[in-house]
Amino acid sequence: MNAPVGKLSSVEQFLGKPRPMLIGDEWVAAQSGKTFPVYNPATGEVIAQVAEGDKADVDLAVAAARKAFEKWGRSNPGKRARLMWKLADLIEQHAEEFAQLETLDNGKPITESRMIDVMGAAAYFRYFAGWCDKLDGITSRVSSPDVHAYTLREPVGVCAQIVPWNFPLLMASWKLAPCLATGNVSILKPAEETPLTALRLGELFLEAGFPAGVVQVIPGYGHTAGAALSGHPDVDKVAFTGSTEVGKLIVQAASGNLKKVSLELGGKSPNIVFADADMSKAITGSANAIFFNCGQVCVAGSRLYAERKVFDQVVEGMADFAKKIRVGSGMDPQTQMGPLVSSTQFDRVTGMIKSGLDEGAEILTGGKRIGDQGYFVEPTIIVNTKPNMRVVREEIFGPVVVASPVDDIEEIARIANDTPYGLAASVWTQDLTKAHKMASALKAGTVWINTHGMIEPHLPFGGYKQSGWGREGGKESLDLYTQVKAVFAAL
Ligand code: NAP
Ligand code: MG
Repeated sequence: MNAPVGKLSSVEQFLGKPRPMLIGDEWVAAQSGKTFPVYNPATGEVIAQVAEGDKADVDLAVAAARKAFEKWGRSNPGKRARLMWKLADLIEQHAEEFAQLETLDNGKPITESRMIDVMGAAAYFRYFAGWCDKLDGITSRVSSPDVHAYTLREPVGVCAQIVPWNFPLLMASWKLAPCLATGNVSILKPAEETPLTALRLGELFLEAGFPAGVVQVIPGYGHTAGAALSGHPDVDKVAFTGSTEVGKLIVQAASGNLKKVSLELGGKSPNIVFADADMSKAITGSANAIFFNCGQVCVAGSRLYAERKVFDQVVEGMADFAKKIRVGSGMDPQTQMGPLVSSTQFDRVTGMIKSGLDEGAEILTGGKRIGDQGYFVEPTIIVNTKPNMRVVREEIFGPVVVASPVDDIEEIARIANDTPYGLAASVWTQDLTKAHKMASALKAGTVWINTHGMIEPHLPFGGYKQSGWGREGGKESLDLYTQVKAVFAAL
């Protein structure tokens, strides 16, 4: 009954030979001929070889995209919508294949790859398909009665889209769907750790009938392929999701031609439990807020604050929850938490846990590696922290929460906002007034009340402060991918 999922033959085939990159409508090797290995983080084994794109490939991809933009940027919106629907249908038809590739590449539980990553990707394409024919402008009366004025909403052009490894297919979809709906073209660079589903998606773009050059997929490293894209003089926009540190590099690189930039960056989101909360919901919700996707979530509830009188109940409840999480290979359908994505990430997360201990914090539960192969870490709760410790200030991006009691609830918003980040925050209380006052006081792009982690295609998502620039999702995304032109016509 607990048997791991058997690999589909299509997955075996996909992994069985080196994967080239997509430029125009052709699958090509890197100009350099180089490839790089892709690892299964549950075992540490190499599962595929992928073409290693760098500057020479980026130049070709940008030229192909530029050519495609001439037509796609003026294409029939209804036709774009139909192609996007077709793509969403194809994603669903290949759902199990995508789910397996994602789980093998990233490590996440297969049940989550299926429900969240694959279904979510199809949903984003469908939602944005609806916007294709709704990119309206306005008409306006101006100072002279003999002048007619109106606005045109136009695509930005050639977009570089650089995505991380925590939700590889889903993040690619968040980027591609609004970009293509609004008539732009894309060069997608998946994270070096997880290029497989983006490459498979590239095949489906061609199968769906998207014209050559509308989407290129260039796997490669950030400091080569990523840097070449963000610095490229013929790229009009770069959209990035990843660390705040790299976000700053992107901004610098983009300054050469002042390309438009949108950024979804890191977080250190506060999760606040008031004493009047429904405790069982608050405890389960707070545990899921940090342990989902092994904590590799930009909106992870990684700083827990609970009122002093319920603090022990909350953290002990979360520790009980943590001890019952079934950690293991994502290909086992019983698994609830997989490994960290890579050995680098394993070292980073275990290094942060150690730094917490070195600075005097204590571990309530977890803290150790599980097994001796793959990158598994126990769900971990750290207590007795001080506000200036690295574990409290820096994004850990693993299943590690720092928990602190709060005595003065008037101070909670100030403490929660004491971070350079501002991506998300959660509040658990049954007092409506308190909940909405907190929603207003918290400096974050998303606030959840008595829940955590809900994200929908039609609602804006993004960060305050150093968590980013711009909002993805909803009609706010249209601003990232269009420019508005004012036209004055003397009659
Ligand atoms: P990262 O370096 O920010 O990677 C994100 C993407 O940017 C990847 O595609 C990466 O390529 C690329 N990149 C790296 N350097 C670049 C450069 N100089 N120019 C252009 N693109 C570049 O994130 P990471 O190294 O994978 O993880 C480091 C930390 O980032 C994590 O511990 C976590 O704190 C944070 N993070 C946040 C998010 C989020 O959603 N907010 C997601 C992932 C990671 P390569 O894959 O080749 O490096
Ligand atoms: Mg990286």
